[in-house]
This record gives sequence, C-alpha cells and structure tokens, in this order.
Amino acid sequence: MAAKNKVHVIESRRCKSCGVCVAVCPKKVLEIGSELNEQGYNYVVQARPEDCIKCNLCGVVCPDIALGVVEVQASA
Ligand code: SF4
Ligand code: SF4
Repeated sequence: MAAKNKVHVIESRRCKSCGVCVAVCPKKVLEIGSELNEQGYNYVVQARPEDCIKCNLCGVVCPDIALGVVEVQASA
C-alpha cells in the first residue's frame, strides 16, 4: 500500500476571518493575517507551520471549509 502524507492547506479565498480556527488550534499555529482576500476579509495564515500536528481540529470547526488537513500520495 502506498504511503500518504498529511498536508495542512488553507484556501484563503474562502476565509471570512471569524477566528474560530485560531482559537481552537492546540498549537497556536494560526493567525489572522494582514492580507485581504478577494472577499475583503483578512484571511488566516499559518504563522508557525512547523508546530502543526495535523490534528485537523481547525478543519472540523471552520464554517467556511477554508482550511484543514488533507492526505496526499507520498512521492517515491
Ligand atoms: S491541524 Fe491542528 S495543529 Fe495544525 S493548524 Fe489545524 S488545529 Fe492547528
Ligand atoms: S475558521 Fe475558517 S473562516 Fe474562520 S478564520 Fe478560520 S479559516 Fe477563516
């Protein structure tokens, strides 16, 4: 069976800057960034990506399906 890697992704155009993911992240990885997306919201960024434990709590709570952990095929 092929190995899979977990990757944290942010779809910044969907973010509405509610801050729920920032509050729930156990590792304080996420912050509301200074850049605006096309909807006019300051979107979330991974301020400390090296601390992310890929728990996907942020993905579970985001009401706009703007971020989370996905599995990708590991390269050989
Ligand atoms: S996957 Fe977990 S540790 Fe990583 S940003 Fe989301 S809530 Fe934080
Ligand atoms: S929970 Fe979703 S919409 Fe709210 S700040 Fe985080 S990424 Fe943006």
